[in-house]
Amino acid sequence: MSFDLVATDGEARAGVLHTVHGDVPTPAFMPVGTKGAVRSVDPAELRELGTSILLGNTYHLHFRPGDELVADGGGLHAFMAWDGPILTDSGGFQVFSLRDTLLAVDEVGVTFRSVYDGSPVRFTPEDVARIQANLGSDVAMCLDVCPPALVDRGDLAEAVRLTSAWAARQRVCARAPGQLLFGITQGASDEELRLRSIAEITELDFDGYALGGLSVGEPRDVMFDSVAWAAPALPDEKPRYFMGIGDPEGVLEVVERGVDMFDCVLPTRTARTGSALTSEGRLNLRNSRFARDPRPLDEGCACPACTRFSRAYIRHLANQKELLGLRLLSLHNLRYLLQLTAGAREAIERGTFTAYKAEVLGRLPGAREEVP
Ligand SMILES: [Zn+2]
Repeated sequence: MSFDLVATDGEARAGVLHTVHGDVPTPAFMPVGTKGAVRSVDPAELRELGTSILLGNTYHLHFRPGDELVADGGGLHAFMAWDGPILTDSGGFQVFSLRDTLLAVDEVGVTFRSVYDGSPVRFTPEDVARIQANLGSDVAMCLDVCPPALVDRGDLAEAVRLTSAWAARQRVCARAPGQLLFGITQGASDEELRLRSIAEITELDFDGYALGGLSVGEPRDVMFDSVAWAAPALPDEKPRYFMGIGDPEGVLEVVERGVDMFDCVLPTRTARTGSALTSEGRLNLRNSRFARDPRPLDEGCACPACTRFSRAYIRHLANQKELLGLRLLSLHNLRYLLQLTAGAREAIERGTFTAYKAEVLGRLPGAREEVP
């Protein structure tokens, strides 16, 4: 069994995902290493910050440097010098979210133009299985059809049907040694279609299950309501992955509803805009009120930025686009989300998750209005 459920508190869960490269305590936040790197951060630093699993993007690594090159280099772990667990997505999200590059979807696969050179490329379930086997990730994801929010119901039903058909094909493909495979459910916020997708995908019996096709532009309350009935419909004994959420409020809301794993580019993306995620809300360091502020980004944070540098200095670095500014903000933002998630896990184990969530959100001004 690759997943152990350790404690529950309401619908919230604490568990452990076992992989070839080590255990992942859940709830787990996965920093995104899109092109084989979490931007500007060394893998040794990721480990020190408390990262237990990284996400790599199949789409990007397939094109640059190429998954066969990575395989020749000993797989993604050796290539990027990260010996902990790695989850690779299927590439489907990039293919379907870059809609102006999407050419055709048919029974066998999807055809699109590469964002790198515009050439037409085809992904089938068999292709993404081979690419992820080459990358050698610990957890591979199935290729799914991810329609945009507000697609008509006929198209949504077709996405559910095709996603199940593709999952059945990918399930029997060769994998890297010990590689786990997660199925992805679709159906947006349509209860009948989502539950149909969950029934069809869980029938195939994967190592874990993702809620795909949410957080794609629908209202936040609709998204949270959907997770509330969809997550508990997934098997208790398998990990549940919500794809693409990483703002503090969103993380706590989906964890409360029974999600175990999630990923987001928010920590490094906000760092690029000169912003810090803190226990008292998001700070835009570009704001002149920080020009002479001697305090750390977040009082009590043990990250390399907060233990040594002032807001005033980091603001100066961000304004001058110094690489050190990007690095310090990335380190801090990653640490913040990893700590938030570790705190959630401890609270679930103690049976105090509701109080923990209320305390964290109570300190965040206007968290409800702050959409990632
Ligand atoms: Zn910090």
